[in-house]
Amino acid sequence: MAVRLQEETETSNTSPRSEMLHTALRQLENAFEGLGLAEGFREIIRQSERELTVAVPIYRDDGQISVFTGYRVQHSSARGPCKGGIRFHPGVNLEEVRALALLMTLKCAVANLPFGGAKGGVSVNPAGLSRTELERLTRRYAAMILPILGRKRDIPAPDVNTNAQTMAWLMDTVSMLDGNSTPEIATGKPVALGGSQGREEATGRGVAIATVEALKRQGRDPKEVTVAVQGFGNVGSYAAQILAEEYGAKIVAISDVSGGFYNAKGLNLKPIREHLQAHPAQLLEDYHDNGHFEQISNAELLTLEADVLIPAAIEDQITHENADQIKAGLIVEGANGPTSFEADAILRERGIHVVPDILANAGGVICSYFEWVQDLQSYFWDIDEVRQQLNRAMCRAFEEVWTFAEEHDMDMRSSAYSLAVDRVAYAIQQRGLFP
Ligand code: GLU
Repeated sequence: MAVRLQEETETSNTSPRSEMLHTALRQLENAFEGLGLAEGFREIIRQSERELTVAVPIYRDDGQISVFTGYRVQHSSARGPCKGGIRFHPGVNLEEVRALALLMTLKCAVANLPFGGAKGGVSVNPAGLSRTELERLTRRYAAMILPILGRKRDIPAPDVNTNAQTMAWLMDTVSMLDGNSTPEIATGKPVALGGSQGREEATGRGVAIATVEALKRQGRDPKEVTVAVQGFGNVGSYAAQILAEEYGAKIVAISDVSGGFYNAKGLNLKPIREHLQAHPAQLLEDYHDNGHFEQISNAELLTLEADVLIPAAIEDQITHENADQIKAGLIVEGANGPTSFEADAILRERGIHVVPDILANAGGVICSYFEWVQDLQSYFWDIDEVRQQLNRAMCRAFEEVWTFAEEHDMDMRSSAYSLAVDRVAYAIQQRGLFP
């Protein structure tokens, strides 16, 4: 059988440096210093508990073989089973997954969920695979990382370029190998397979709640603000829709990898969402609205005139190169790691308020927690219950981070990191070190 050489397959063993890991580790050091944490705890928290790299060979539809590289990193299980998504993206590498796993530990701690943190991914461009190839990739990757998964050990969820279907395949693979139905092995599943009502919208809804909570504390009415949203996938599209429809905010700009639109008077999101649903790759490209907007690029969106900026695409978007051009007074991080360490300092200097990723986008994993609880109990909540609980959990986390920041005269990212690190270190100390 011929083996096809894949451009998107990562063949090198030396992982590229991740800007996001560098940023997260520096923020971690600041939190350690502020808390006066003992060196031993610092050393534990700096490292992942376990890192797994796997080869993922699949048959392509034409009968040839492609081999992809996948990862699952468990950063911490101190506060409970490891929890975190799986992404399919050509930029996935060990350092990136390591950073994202660390962010999950902190995010779960900020939200006070009984979870540690993990992340997984496959270095692949999923748009280059057919649906059947994607299913084989998901199943083989699931089988390869299964030795370290478990409903009380490590529970995956969707992330960039993965969704409820991906989780259904993963859950089915594990259930078939196990001979038992194990919906609680993953969250973000279809509702018919033990998924939770409201899970799909949960990250975007949480971003909307965080935005409204931040505005409230600035004495501003969401009905009077303009919002620009970078990234119109699961997080950005729901955040925009909920902010517009439920809170009356004006969405003036949206974008994705294919480009974006700007209209100072506000965009009509409904036909845009319909266009996305019909588009084969769910992209904004080729959408026309009889000239009711200006075409902009994904990068241009960041520096537009808007009161609120929601980066909801991928990491490393706000850097030292564009941080001084940002016009929004409030940034709410829908994506994981969108702002570099250097950019963060510039934003702080300029008085731009940032609601950090580990708080702003925690709605997804909060709802994942609800899903896991529902699966373990085989008892399911209705959408009103889910939304009410999500709202409560987001508002409580926001208030805790806000109050800590006020009391210690720090920005919200430093506050969120400090709260999270303190909780993780406390769990490690209480458990003691095995053996
Ligand atoms: N991938 C999402 C995140 O980055 C959700 C993780 C989860 O629900 O486990 O927060």
